[in-house]
Amino acid sequence: MPGLTCLARSDFLHDSTGSDQAANAGSFIASGSNAAQDSAASTLPAGIGDPDRRILIKGGAVLSMDAAVGNFAVGDVLIEGGRIVEVASKIETGDAAVINASGKIVMPGFVDTHHHQFETALRSQLANAILINDGRASARLNYYEAVLQQASMVYRPEDVYINELFGSLSQLDAGVTTVMDVSQIHHSPEHSDAAIEGMMDAGRRSVFGYFEGWGDRAQYPQDAKRIKQQYFSSDDQLMTMVMGGEIYLPGYETAWKIGRELGLPIALHVVGTFGMQETFDTLGASGQFGPDNIFIHMTGMSDKGWKYAADAGAHVSLSVPIEMQMRHGMPPVQKAIDLGMSTSLSTDVECTMTADPFTQMRGLITLQRMLANEKALAGEDYPELMTTLEAIRTATMGGAEGLKLDSKIGSLTPGKQADILLLNAETLNVAPLNNVPGAVVTLMERSNVDTVLVAGKVKKWRGELLGFDLGRLTTELAASRDHIFEAAGLERDLFAN
Ligand SMILES: [Zn+2]
Repeated sequence: MPGLTCLARSDFLHDSTGSDQAANAGSFIASGSNAAQDSAASTLPAGIGDPDRRILIKGGAVLSMDAAVGNFAVGDVLIEGGRIVEVASKIETGDAAVINASGKIVMPGFVDTHHHQFETALRSQLANAILINDGRASARLNYYEAVLQQASMVYRPEDVYINELFGSLSQLDAGVTTVMDVSQIHHSPEHSDAAIEGMMDAGRRSVFGYFEGWGDRAQYPQDAKRIKQQYFSSDDQLMTMVMGGEIYLPGYETAWKIGRELGLPIALHVVGTFGMQETFDTLGASGQFGPDNIFIHMTGMSDKGWKYAADAGAHVSLSVPIEMQMRHGMPPVQKAIDLGMSTSLSTDVECTMTADPFTQMRGLITLQRMLANEKALAGEDYPELMTTLEAIRTATMGGAEGLKLDSKIGSLTPGKQADILLLNAETLNVAPLNNVPGAVVTLMERSNVDTVLVAGKVKKWRGELLGFDLGRLTTELAASRDHIFEAAGLERDLFAN
């Protein structure tokens, strides 16, 4: 990894020799430990991991998220060369490596269209905080000042790397097979390289969102050309790129121009409390929105601005729990539905809320139904109530559309990449299985994510993430946290309220 002093890639792969001893000693095997990984990996079906061998996921409840493919109470999914080749009630193959999916829900991986992974070391530090200082004593610790103006300024490339890697692995564990990372941490080309390396080393499908950085060595936005050429010259890889173009920052016009010259989608935060409604309306009125725009939040925007966005075919990324928690404004769930816009879910910041997809889907569906139910109770006309299947669609196909990856991921469609989850439906919190989308949205959580495949490669198996020394990475992340807090002058108080 260029310019970094932290561990080389091979160091992250655990040494199975030592771990076997622990397993053989019969000691308690903690989930996430090397011994637990080895124990799980020893049960991988024969032939898994052989690139020439097909994989048959057999006998699961298949939720394809593709109406043309349909769903199967008991069905099979066949994978070849990292792609889905067939989905049917029963597939006969003589030679495939077989994954038994009995008792599991088989569905496409979740997609998160906006996640600031560089903040992983700051987890829960701003659990009680709002977005910007409103003058009250309780807002003394607020996101804009503590994270964007303090903490983010002291990140070194090695901090970026470990935060990106750890955040990626945590979401992979939770079934999020694709993310768009939005890290305002590009203080130098080395910072950008470290962000890309961290995501790449996690082995997950990731979209590198190239946003701003600060200081003498910041090269945003013009370094986009080098980055695209060096890392993203091919579309046939796990990682792709999106250009950040924040309209509340000076010079966004250049970022939009470079992004469009490079053929990259343009993503930006659209938050009324940042005073950007007028700029947004002006851009919309002058015809500068397009289907390549990813508008994050869309809180506090005018009806006119919404119409420009909808007419242009722009995409909306909603971070429902964060928007409610941090005062971005009312999550515009119903507005996006009423305008028929392509919409996805995004986790935003773990300094304030978890990045698991189940929390996202429950936030989305309960808010939409609460608002509709209030209207119904008041005797008013009310919109259709969102269903659990619609919530899952937003968290899968919606995200794929937003990141321009819907020809590759988002559903179990033959020809698409095999980004697939097996969710355990026989656990204490779910059994007996009576409704598949209902169980996923209203009952499940991270512990139900049994198996995760990305492009046909097994990343999590029998509840264990494979291939990483998580203990070592946790220590690395804590050391990064120590540096960030000390250098930024952030107070550490485990019981701050
Ligand atoms: Zn954000």
